[in-house]
Amino acid sequence: MTENHTEKEQPATQYDYSFDYIQKKLEGKKDSFGMLMKEIVRAGICTECGTCAAVCPVLEWDDIAGQPKLIGKCTGCGICYNQCPRTITDPIQLMGEFKTGYVANTDIPEVIGGQDGGTVTSLLIYLFEEHLIDAAIVAMKDPSNPWHPVSQIITSKEDAIKASGSIYSHTQTVEALMDAIRQDYRSIAFVGTPCNIDAVDKMMSSPAGMLKYFMRAHILKIGLFCMDSFAPEALYPFFEKDGIDLSKVVKMDISKGKFHLYHDAKGEPIKSYTIKQLHKFKSPSCNFCTDLTAENADISVGSVGSGANKNTVFARTGIGTEIVEDAAKKGYLKIEPYNAINLNAVLFLAKLKKVSQYNIQKRKVFIVRDPMEKEGPKIETKPEEEKPATKTLGTRKFLRVSKDVNEEEKILKISLTNTIGYLLEDIKIRIATIEELFEKKPWITNIRELFPYESIEIGYPLENEDNEIVYGNVLVEASTDAFGKVFSKTFKLTPKEKK
Ligand SMILES: Cc1cc2nc3c(=O)[nH]c(=O)nc-3n(C[C@H](O)[C@H](O)[C@H](O)COP(=O)(O)OP(=O)(O)OC[C@H]3O[C@@H](n4cnc5c(N)ncnc54)[C@H](O)[C@@H]3O)c2cc1C
Ligand code: SF4
Ligand code: SF4
Ligand code: SF4
Repeated sequence: MTENHTEKEQPATQYDYSFDYIQKKLEGKKDSFGMLMKEIVRAGICTECGTCAAVCPVLEWDDIAGQPKLIGKCTGCGICYNQCPRTITDPIQLMGEFKTGYVANTDIPEVIGGQDGGTVTSLLIYLFEEHLIDAAIVAMKDPSNPWHPVSQIITSKEDAIKASGSIYSHTQTVEALMDAIRQDYRSIAFVGTPCNIDAVDKMMSSPAGMLKYFMRAHILKIGLFCMDSFAPEALYPFFEKDGIDLSKVVKMDISKGKFHLYHDAKGEPIKSYTIKQLHKFKSPSCNFCTDLTAENADISVGSVGSGANKNTVFARTGIGTEIVEDAAKKGYLKIEPYNAINLNAVLFLAKLKKVSQYNIQKRKVFIVRDPMEKEGPKIETKPEEEKPATKTLGTRKFLRVSKDVNEEEKILKISLTNTIGYLLEDIKIRIATIEELFEKKPWITNIRELFPYESIEIGYPLENEDNEIVYGNVLVEASTDAFGKVFSKTFKLTPKEKK
């Protein structure tokens, strides 16, 4: 026990000590009871084992509802989440098995157009120059159809450099791999997204796998991290409609939740979109994908977890590790050791992807025109007197509310987060436009329950009869029977470009 511990008030029992210890260990993580409810209970994958309720003093098992119930103040410690058999919290479950990891980037002066650190291109060059492979399978941009991918068999350093950069769409790379095998290439590096790596892995290892039986080809799998890909036939017309000439775009990149387009790979993006804006162009199959880091590759390479112009690399097999280390030793790659990786960033994204399959059944909040609204405008409601129950909790905020105008969909997206440690039940949300002190277009919704630290999104239409977006002041109010009015604020909305 540390000195600090002896000075502080001691937990009452050994069990309390353990609870306290795990609570500290999980500090700063975003797991919570709200996430347990959202990812596991509401998604319908709770086994009703009752473990969450068994470990936490403020949870009990609700026999009638068949789910855990909060009976006191939740601290958001995440202990319940981390015991649940259905949550995915173990790093190996999130990123797959690997021998070691590196932060890497190219050490070859000619590799200037790499997507991030140019690691994949540099590994291919190393493999060619060391005569370890006869051919590599990559995806290149179709010269006659900008930014459409074509899978290719390449055999030289020059081709590897030409193929560098990411194309964010599905690619039929296995087709080129089979062509290469038919053309008698025997040692092949295969670069692909996790889904394509899975195809090759299955062909190599499953009992009826074509490449398991055909032993003449040796394939090194170089996997790319992948969160989503987009359907070119839907995404590119959208870009073009937005004034983008795809033939002038030299780089596309996804980072920190945004999709950037560049005319100069080393300059500023000419246009950036949030991934949410482009969600509708996402390939539908990616919604069912749970592998961020290409878990079945020999070497996996991505950008998350390392700084600009660098790559996060996981060497998963013996040969994968030897190749990365030898490429570094022979001056093709610069590598930093495993602890240079920002593992929390990788784990966070990997978890988002693992649970995305459950979130397909996302909680939807419907907002409807207020049926009680009388004819004609009404004077703006002033925030009500606080009810006694509210006063007992002082001035603490119940909800954190953020807003974002989606100009394309012409809606105001309002995100509500429960910021107290209690369950908020039957929250009545009312949203209205304020014009010269008068309320117009009041819309309402009822949220049956919002768990501690859980967020929910509501969309409020900003479109008028002429299909134009109307900016101005929008009032957002929230109240519950137990606590009275828990939020009331008027937001001033302005077009994004005027901000
Ligand atoms: C669809 C997609 C989504 C991605 N999402 C993420 C993500 O969410 N987080 C993250 O950290 N990294 C992601 N990546 C990986 C990232 O974009 C880089 O590919 C990776 O960091 C390697 O960088 P590099 O500098 O070594 O690549 P480079 O040295 O430029 O080499 C890239 C190689 O990838 C090949 N390639 C490009 N596009 C494709 C494709 N569609 N299919 C198969 N091969 C292709 C090229 O032919 C080239 O050989 C994604 C990649 C793709 C293709
Ligand atoms: S319900 Fe809240 S306090 Fe209890 S274990 Fe879960 S996160 Fe911690
Ligand atoms: S621990 Fe997980 S699976 Fe078990 S009852 Fe709680 S939410 Fe359900
Ligand atoms: S998200 Fe999954 S299915 Fe979609 S391209 Fe990436 S690896 Fe393939």
